[in-house]
Amino acid sequence: MKEQFEGSFTQQEAIPEDAIDAAVEVMRSGRLHRYNVADGQVGDVARLEQEFAALLGANYCLSVASGGYALATALRALGVEPGHKVLTNAFTLAPVPGSIAAVGAVPLFVGVTEGLVIDLEDLAEKADQADVLMLSHMRGHICDMDALMQICDQNDIKVIEDCAHTMGAKWRNTWSGRYGAIGCYSTQTYKHINSGEGGFLVTDDAQVIARAIVLSGSYMLHDRHLAGPDPSEFKKIFYETPNISGRMDHLRASILRPQLRSLNAQCEAWNVRYRIVEDGLQDTPGLRLIERPPEEAYVGSSIQVLLLDWSQQAVRDVIAGCAERGVELKWFGSKEPVGFTSRYDSWIYAPSSAMPKSDRILAGLLDMRIPLTFSLEDCALIARIIRMEVNGVYQSMPAVAQ
Ligand SMILES: *Cc1c(COP(=O)(O)O)cnc(C)c1O
Repeated sequence: MKEQFEGSFTQQEAIPEDAIDAAVEVMRSGRLHRYNVADGQVGDVARLEQEFAALLGANYCLSVASGGYALATALRALGVEPGHKVLTNAFTLAPVPGSIAAVGAVPLFVGVTEGLVIDLEDLAEKADQADVLMLSHMRGHICDMDALMQICDQNDIKVIEDCAHTMGAKWRNTWSGRYGAIGCYSTQTYKHINSGEGGFLVTDDAQVIARAIVLSGSYMLHDRHLAGPDPSEFKKIFYETPNISGRMDHLRASILRPQLRSLNAQCEAWNVRYRIVEDGLQDTPGLRLIERPPEEAYVGSSIQVLLLDWSQQAVRDVIAGCAERGVELKWFGSKEPVGFTSRYDSWIYAPSSAMPKSDRILAGLLDMRIPLTFSLEDCALIARIIRMEVNGVYQSMPAVAQ
């Protein structure tokens, strides 16, 4: 009998009990707004910002309503205006080009490599066309950050890092989010810490954080920030910067603070699971694993594999075979966006030219989430199922396609 997987790919862990207690306390107080604090009280949002900044060794941190809001705020804080071009990854998810569109700017897409990172050659070719790169560490894959920063520094390009999939990850001992001018994070349910919705923006630039704080809607209460700049930084910014409300509230911050304390252990738990799936898929004919460079300390909250140069039908057969056995694979090769797997040419509000090298990779790219509710045995079973289904389709393919 064929093995079957019964688990859910969208079931996250419960919120930890200490976080629930903290949330209940906030609700009992009635003070949910970040600036609504009792005399002498600091509040969970300001504390959370201080703790996240300390973890990353950043001068400043702002908590906001979502990861997408953090990205758009980062663009505004760097002075991106309507009509400006912003370099970004062709392989990413909709909130990234969406945040560029939100400020009226125009995404200029940069290709993806077989390592699933931004194509640095393509970036260098397009580097004279924009002043800002929104770099998405899509699905947790981090490019050679030293080489990327060299290209960007030489061309006076400011870098915003989209760390929605790399909270807790590093390149050569530097946290993801700390190479560029601004790092943006999401605390949405499917990311590495969970408050339903939420996000962070971190930077060492006092003017950038001052603008971001006013943008988020600080109602002149910026002195209540523990991870904000000196009050003198606000003098001019204050009158020049619109309020585009997107604050985080105490309820969300209260459940994030305990989760932040266990982030490292959670990342380790993801990596144990990732490596079991990866090991189980090793040397599957026709299937290529993504090589992880030694400089990259990744967080394996999802795994990607390539069925490079397979026909669309063969890829569809693998996905259908796995789905029948309870294993949900997402595919970036579909012409129509399905679930979250949209691609650069499905965002028709953003004009793009054909990118054949990237298209070849996306056409064979399968993606699978690894929630921490999966046991180690679940991960081994999932790998066996994928391996068998890939094998079955591969063996039936004409030899020339192999
Ligand atoms: C989730 C996500 C974001 C932002 O997420 P929000 O849902 O707005 O919090 C940004 N980039 C990528 C790649 C994401 O997956």
